Amino acid sequence: LANRRMLVERFGHALAASAANGQCGAVLMLDLDHFKTLNETRGHERGDALLRLVAARLRACVGQDDLLARHGDDEFVVVLAGTHATLEQARTQARAVGERILGALRAPFRIEGGLHHATISAGAAVFLGQEEAVDELLRQADMAMHQAKAAGRDTLRFYDPRIQTQVQARASLERDLRGALELGQFELRYQAQVRGGRITGAEALVRWRHPGGNTVSPAEFIPLAEETGLIMALGDWVLRSACAQLVLWARQPRLAELSLAVNISPRQFAQSDFVAQVLAAIAGSGANPRRLELEVTEGLLLQDVEDTIAKMIQLKAYGLDFSLDDFGTGYSSLAYLKRLPLDQLKIDQSFVRDVLVDPNDAAIARTVVALGNSLGLRVIAEGVETEAQRVFLKRHGCDAWQGYLLSPPVPAPDFEALVRRGVSFP
Ligand code: C2E
Ligand code: MG
Ligand code: MG
Repeated sequence: LANRRMLVERFGHALAASAANGQCGAVLMLDLDHFKTLNETRGHERGDALLRLVAARLRACVGQDDLLARHGDDEFVVVLAGTHATLEQARTQARAVGERILGALRAPFRIEGGLHHATISAGAAVFLGQEEAVDELLRQADMAMHQAKAAGRDTLRFYDPRIQTQVQARASLERDLRGALELGQFELRYQAQVRGGRITGAEALVRWRHPGGNTVSPAEFIPLAEETGLIMALGDWVLRSACAQLVLWARQPRLAELSLAVNISPRQFAQSDFVAQVLAAIAGSGANPRRLELEVTEGLLLQDVEDTIAKMIQLKAYGLDFSLDDFGTGYSSLAYLKRLPLDQLKIDQSFVRDVLVDPNDAAIARTVVALGNSLGLRVIAEGVETEAQRVFLKRHGCDAWQGYLLSPPVPAPDFEALVRRGVSFP
């Protein structure tokens, strides 16, 4: 087989030829699935033997004029000569060769008297002339090959410029996110929570004012912040900002009674110094911990449950409350739920949305209320948008709610004005 250096050279010639004659071609990047496991469990000699057998089968799948090269340990590249009038035809041929290769590998390999099964993941990119360089085309085929791996291996994927756009958009969002905290681009919005007909508190929801002018939804950047670890610093900022807001409210008669709920990511909660972090935010601001509520999710139950319970108990000793957000959408183990020292369950908005039209959602909402009652927990519904939903929930024993029916999350002054207006519900 051609080695990497020969590949680059001859692929370059193929591109030049394609530029000269206007014919299209394609390149395939092939990577054996789980080759490392074979090497590690059955020895490198068997691994080498498999590579030789695979190479022989690949050779039989490609034409005389096509180039077959070994690109890395268990990675092969096929360049299909530019002999097609259109990119679509090149694509069709690449698909045919790719499928032939996948099929050829599916028959077991005989190695040292034993049978071995191997599959390959393939990524393809098409080319015309020298619009793209060798490196760029190999990168495109490689990106497509990784899509094939992600799709479950033993399959073929084509390079799609949209993948690249997505990958780039994510990378730039991640870059911007890193600087956002220092640049003061985050702010908190407050969504009123009603209990017994009047506003008793709010949920703090973070917003990111992107320098581009638009506001990025937390649904988009919180997962990213969790993956990158940035959630630690962001979560700390949210906690300290919420405490500062509580202190401002404490000086004003009607606002002093309000509670404030803060969302806590599982990853933030899992930090060994999480309790200290919360206590520092409280002590640093002088906020009353009895007014602070932490919204956690069922994701916590995937972590060390004993540790979770211990942390919750420590914080509850200072008067903080715990609310279980998005209840029923995640990993709901009732056995664990019973053990968590919670104060409140939140009926997820996905159940509230269709509570009037979907009997299953209605049953779930009623069940959460009953469950909360029997476990001695308060229950609040989120995402209440209509009067009919509110009335339904109230009729079934849930008179705590938040949602667009009263107010979306708004800046603090707007929320305060809403409280002062003294809205009330029957
Ligand atoms: P969540 O805590 O379940 O928040 C409820 C979401 O529903 C919020 O979206 C809120 O704006 C939206 N919502 C409120 N009322 C209604 C309604 O009547 N109808 C509908 N359709 N939606 C309503 P948002 O603000 O985009 O937040 C999305 C998620 O991001 C939150 O879900 C929470 O999991 C996360 N998040 C927000 N802020 C923070 C934060 O400071 N820290 C962490 N860790 N996560 C946060
Ligand atoms: Mg929440
Ligand atoms: Mg929720």
